[in-house]
Amino acid sequence: MYLARPDTVISGRSINASRLEMGRILAREFPVDADLVIATPDSGTPAAIGYAQGSGIPYGQGLVKNAYVGRTFIQPTQLARQRGIRLKLNPLPEVIKDKRLVVVDDSIVRGNTQRALVKMLRDAGAKEVHIRISSPPVKWPCFFGIDFATRSELIANQKTVDEICESIGADSLGYISIDGMVEATRQNSHELCAACFDGKYPVDIRMAARHAGSDLELN
Ligand code: SF4
Repeated sequence: MYLARPDTVISGRSINASRLEMGRILAREFPVDADLVIATPDSGTPAAIGYAQGSGIPYGQGLVKNAYVGRTFIQPTQLARQRGIRLKLNPLPEVIKDKRLVVVDDSIVRGNTQRALVKMLRDAGAKEVHIRISSPPVKWPCFFGIDFATRSELIANQKTVDEICESIGADSLGYISIDGMVEATRQNSHELCAACFDGKYPVDIRMAARHAGSDLELN
């Protein structure tokens, strides 16, 4: 659900509208004193605008995407992924320098992308980097087409939120709550899949897990 295209409509409400609302709710759940809200383009943009609206902190473009660079997740090694983000995004130092930044992203899977991002922003002169994530911590694999990782690779399975914050080098870290995410979609929670966050799969995924050779622990 949370990785859908922005023009997707779920039960009459666009993903874009839900993401804006997720940003507003994130600002309510995890406020911070800061100078500028920026997004990890493009997936973090609507939630970053929502965070700016909810917090009253100005929104600006502090990162721009490089065209023609392959998507980070298809590169095989950790090192390649860390290099990948450096190639994929460029900071705008004139926007970032000496600012206390809120950076809104849509998810943390392994943490490598955000670690590289925080370092890149500090290198570009950011005074503080506060990461806000418009999905809850991803703790379970997706068996419905989003191939992100096995359980043991998901950083939220290895560490607490404070430990993840320290691991990626941010000044603070906040994830929207599951209730906040559901509120933003204005759907009934029983109509939504939130399995990668809460482990409650809407169908029997035992067969899929076995086929995928997953390290999912089935009860
Ligand atoms: S487990 Fe459900 S909510 Fe998570 S990515 Fe897959 S379909 Fe979306």
